[in-house]
Amino acid sequence: MNLEKMHDVGIVGGGAAGLSAAVALARSLRSVVVVDGGDPRNAPAAGAHNVLGHDGIAPAELMAGGRREAEHYGAQIRRGRAIAARRRNGGFEVDLAGGGSIRARRLLLATGLTDELPAVPGVREFWGRSVLHCAYCHGWEVRGRRIGVLGTSPLSVHQALLFRQLNDDVTLFLNTMPAPGAEASEQLAARDIRVVHGAVDRLRGDNDAVSAVVLDDDREFPVDAVTVAPRFLARAELYEQLGGTLVEHPLGAFIATGPMGLTDIPGVWAAGNASGLGAMVAAAMGAGVAAGAAINADLVTEDAEAAVRARAERTAPSTETRDDAVAQ
Ligand SMILES: Cc1cc2nc3c(=O)[nH]c(=O)nc-3n(C[C@H](O)[C@H](O)[C@H](O)COP(=O)(O)OP(=O)(O)OC[C@H]3O[C@@H](n4cnc5c(N)ncnc54)[C@H](O)[C@@H]3O)c2cc1C
Repeated sequence: MNLEKMHDVGIVGGGAAGLSAAVALARSLRSVVVVDGGDPRNAPAAGAHNVLGHDGIAPAELMAGGRREAEHYGAQIRRGRAIAARRRNGGFEVDLAGGGSIRARRLLLATGLTDELPAVPGVREFWGRSVLHCAYCHGWEVRGRRIGVLGTSPLSVHQALLFRQLNDDVTLFLNTMPAPGAEASEQLAARDIRVVHGAVDRLRGDNDAVSAVVLDDDREFPVDAVTVAPRFLARAELYEQLGGTLVEHPLGAFIATGPMGLTDIPGVWAAGNASGLGAMVAAAMGAGVAAGAAINADLVTEDAEAAVRARAERTAPSTETRDDAVAQ
């Protein structure tokens, strides 16, 4: 028998989105339990940028602050992985790795996404430090340096143009991507972006940073940073177990939601990168707060309806009283 308390809200994922939702819900005096595996997506990066008031803060420090704030208002945080979810007794039951489970009336999936990196040796090794994907996250930090763009899809042209805004020396390595069309080629040439044909064999590094792109014909190009376009895949095992299906997108696959995070599955919300592949930290926080508010509103409605039913039962004349009235 599961002796776990039925919480108002179970949140899987204690990153920017999940913790923001937890704070909003706990501040509404909702009982909240957060299950978190502790590997936010930006963990490899030294600092998070475009987070107003916290520019450059270490991701682990930002999350520690979020956990403190959520716990201050009464949210419970469990470290570990949620491995299975099902609907049970009008709510949800979520199993935890290592045993035990949590129960909740509503479920928020704030599980983030997996960056599926191109399978080029060196990419994973330097990922998040000198192998980058986002001009807004790290572009300023490598401004004015030599940038190699590892071509994997037609979108790599856009990435090259984005980094060209910050760097004079940008080289697009076509690698596995199709040769750019006429319009793209003209833009690349007009912006002085070098285009190198041929497959990339590996990234070479010195002093813990990428230093060259090596082609499979042994040509070598010195660089200070390399940009890649990962496939963004929502971490959605629990959503799929509950019957949900991911939506395909040119950049990856995500959980579709309404504007406040409600998914196609009644009682299940999603926020952050799980449902918005492009959401940076601030956007993930905003989506978490919005989902928290929407879940609270949903529970307020359910609680009011239950109160109306309970009141009607309390005030309805009992059968005995009615019989007495008929007899008189
Ligand atoms: C290298 C890199 C650098 C970045 N730099 C920046 C930056 O400078 N500025 C910026 O704004 N954005 C940056 N981003 C984007 C940023 O990482 C995301 O916007 C942000 O992490 C999204 O927050 P989230 O809460 O949706 O997901 P995450 O932060 O990824 O959090 C998801 C959490 O859910 C947990 N989880 C997942 N599945 C389970 C499960 N089954 N059970 C329990 N827990 C689970 C994970 O352990 C994780 O803690 C960067 C991304 C990368 C890859």
